[in-house]
Amino acid sequence: MVKVRIKTSKRQELREITVQVAEAVASSGLQEGLVHIYVPHTTAGVLINENADPSVRADIEALLSRIVPYDFPYTHLEGNGAAHVKSSLVGSGVFVPFEDGKLCLGRWQGIFFCEFDGPRSREVWLTFITAAKT
Ligand code: ZN
Repeated sequence: MVKVRIKTSKRQELREITVQVAEAVASSGLQEGLVHIYVPHTTAGVLINENADPSVRADIEALLSRIVPYDFPYTHLEGNGAAHVKSSLVGSGVFVPFEDGKLCLGRWQGIFFCEFDGPRSREVWLTFITAAKT
């Protein structure tokens, strides 16, 4: 497993990590398979979406905050109830295929770490899955 460290700088932000994942795939020396991108935190997540127009990222952040407001009367008293719910909605892991040692993402796709309770130091865990050669 490869652990990628991320330092977030805002309470909520979608931070693109495509380059870090691509570098980890290239460094693995593996040619073809899947990389699982896993976020081991209960107030963060990971998603794949457009990385060309930053307004998409802003819209996702704005709508998540509208659907899951920070000022709802959560029974979780730690003060980060919204972050836990957003993490659940977004999810903790995604798979991306790779071929010839390179990520196979769609033309407009990027991989985003989603911080919902920052700023914090975070980790993303990458696991490579390859088919056995027969
Ligand atoms: Zn909490």
